[in-house]
Amino acid sequence: MAFKDAGNIKPFSNRIWLASPTMHGSELNYVTEAIQTNWVSTVGKNINELEARCAELIGRKYAVGLSCGTAALHLAIKLCGEKLYGQPKVAHGSLEGRRVFCTDMTFDATVNPIAYEGGEAVFIDTDPTTWNMDPEALEKAFELYPDTRLVVIANLYGFTGDLTRIVEICHKHGALVVEDAAESFGATYNGLQTGMFGDVSIISFNGNKIVTGSAGGLLLTDSLDDANKVRKWSTQSREDAAWYQHEELGYNYRISNIVAGVALGNTEHLFEHIAQKKAVFERYAEGFGDLPLRMMPIIDGCVPNYWLSCAIIDESAMCRQVRGEREALYIPEAGKSCPTEILEVLARFNAEGRPIWKPMHMQPVYRMNPFVTKHGSGRARSNAYIAQTGAVDAGMDIFRRGLCLPSDNKMTAEEQAVIIELIRRCFE
Ligand SMILES: *Cc1c(COP(=O)(O)O)cnc(C)c1O
Repeated sequence: MAFKDAGNIKPFSNRIWLASPTMHGSELNYVTEAIQTNWVSTVGKNINELEARCAELIGRKYAVGLSCGTAALHLAIKLCGEKLYGQPKVAHGSLEGRRVFCTDMTFDATVNPIAYEGGEAVFIDTDPTTWNMDPEALEKAFELYPDTRLVVIANLYGFTGDLTRIVEICHKHGALVVEDAAESFGATYNGLQTGMFGDVSIISFNGNKIVTGSAGGLLLTDSLDDANKVRKWSTQSREDAAWYQHEELGYNYRISNIVAGVALGNTEHLFEHIAQKKAVFERYAEGFGDLPLRMMPIIDGCVPNYWLSCAIIDESAMCRQVRGEREALYIPEAGKSCPTEILEVLARFNAEGRPIWKPMHMQPVYRMNPFVTKHGSGRARSNAYIAQTGAVDAGMDIFRRGLCLPSDNKMTAEEQAVIIELIRRCFE
């Protein structure tokens, strides 16, 4: 009956993390130089160098260093809002009263900036074959809300959906695309780096991303005017004048030269981290062998950065699991398990996993926002309908059966073998 016997397995003495920072020494050199030369500010060589090198690596003309990925998303979304609808009055968002289509199964940082700008996010269901935005649901959303002109797309866990098709659909409908590549730095689709697919794109250097600056983010664009505008907004919108002159609303969103030094040094190790993360993913795929558990799909044309290794339990091997707003319960059953049990067992042995991002249409904060599946409006389905047919939307289903496994690039093969054994015992 589910997990009952750990045999001689002992808890890890050092915690196995989901994803933790990996420093190499080069970071310290850039930070030390900044301190020794007194560029301890939001200007300096590390910022310029980080922007230039990341823009080149990804293939964009310009990158603007910002305090975090969320700040980059905010300015990316505001930029598109102003392009589409003009400059708002002070204290009004650029998307006031406008709908914006958005990936549903993602971190809430993807979505919140739409609300900061006064817009209404319309959540687009997930494609179970990619775990990313469903192009059919996106087409449906353009049928339901044909006046929508902005789409925010997030690449999940370092793996992409069919970005070419999704961007084509957006442009066919005259919509601009913001690409949230916070999790997918270094991943490619059809030979192009992620960050190349949005009219404006962003990446993040948050502490648990594939490379980190402790914090920080970049906005990516091919327009010099846009890069300059965002840089100005991020430094309180100071005009080029003899005094502090402000002609539009400003933000304190610029990256620090110290943070940029850490990010710069760490980015030099991006491809090394990707190789380590790929090895982790492949060891899980092999280790799960005949378990009723499948890894997150990799679609043709995508070379992921393997940021997180995620898996989904076959329906036939799911024990009963009930999730409320804050807590979860499950009923142990022979030969079956569920994400709640596996995460509990891992935690008991000092290893960190995580549920899949709870879809935004299921979040109380966004309960009034529209949600579109490939069948049409997802909110129209009553609970009675779901109870009768067992049919739930794709995102809800992946949230129910999926989980993020410990994916730290410093986890050894021996430690991972223990994790795999613990998971195997959950299905006994
Ligand atoms: C981490 C993350 C962000 C936000 O980045 P921060 O640098 O933490 O602000 C945005 N979107 C997604 C999908 C993320 O995973």
